[in-house]
Amino acid sequence: MSSSVVVVGSFNVDHVWRCESLPAPGATIAGRYSTGPGGKGFNQAVAARRAGAPTTFLCALGDDAGGAMARGLADQDGFALSAEASTEPTGTGGIYVDARGRNTIVIGPGANAALSTAYIEQQRSLLGGAKVVLAQLESPVETIEAALAIARDAGVTTVLNAAPADAPSSIGLLKLADILTPNETEFAALLGRHVGERIDADDVAALDGASLHALCRKLVGNGTVVVTLGAVGVFVSHAEETLRGDTQPYYRVGAEQVQVADTTGAGDAFNGALVASLAQDPDAAFARHVRFANQFAGKSTEKEGAAVAMPHFTPADV
Ligand code: ATP
Repeated sequence: MSSSVVVVGSFNVDHVWRCESLPAPGATIAGRYSTGPGGKGFNQAVAARRAGAPTTFLCALGDDAGGAMARGLADQDGFALSAEASTEPTGTGGIYVDARGRNTIVIGPGANAALSTAYIEQQRSLLGGAKVVLAQLESPVETIEAALAIARDAGVTTVLNAAPADAPSSIGLLKLADILTPNETEFAALLGRHVGERIDADDVAALDGASLHALCRKLVGNGTVVVTLGAVGVFVSHAEETLRGDTQPYYRVGAEQVQVADTTGAGDAFNGALVASLAQDPDAAFARHVRFANQFAGKSTEKEGAAVAMPHFTPADV
């Protein structure tokens, strides 16, 4: 099965402790432990597959139980996994969650930080043969840049989820993305870092459409920007000359009314579903893909967890 979606990114084994309160320095406390898959790349690959697209996940894994977990779960979900074999351990996340749902997280990037441009070069035909390539910033920035450049050269649609907010990036990298999908925190961080616009992340959703659109244009010039706004929904901004089948250069889509259990991974759900929809019906108006991804992400919040909470829901089910 050739893959219409290729996701380049991270896999982590998440170790989660649910505690009454977060541990203070020097404290030893008890908590309910669970473990499972994580990493933005992996979560997004699961979402893309469950949203109906034949998908390949490109990553780096250690020769350990975490690496075996990634392969087993990809198999189970029916997507291909191409992993660079790393001498580093597979990525890990240590997550404490208190009774109020607040968390403290430590990431051990391990193999994720070793995903090399040489390996990406070897995947040229896979990347060039996709309909859409999706990446995030939990892998080395030069590796992501190489993947997007290869895809761009081959005429493949490129999508960059510029997350997490504190990851390094460059204007050159952002411009390699046909579609940039930050959440409001990442959007504010990119504006501050790259175009000197100081704006509080909490104020993004309240901005009027024309102002948000102007900020998006300042950031990327020609590309489309989709800012995810959590429970508020999504804001879309196109360049006038590239409306992607839409009739307006900018608009909002309101979030779905859902019974929220856990919003962890909602952004990953949105990104995976967006690229899956784009790959399955490239000629549809962009707003259709956004509405589908918004529905998919809303459904993903109805269950606890990230990858495990991705719904089996495709554009054909709408
Ligand atoms: P995370 O970091 O938890 O993965 P994020 O901050 O990257 O998430 P958000 O902007 O919070 O991403 O959410 C992504 C999308 O998920 C939203 O644009 C929306 O479509 C959907 N969503 C998130 N929260 C809710 C909610 N409370 N109700 C309905 N839909 C939601």
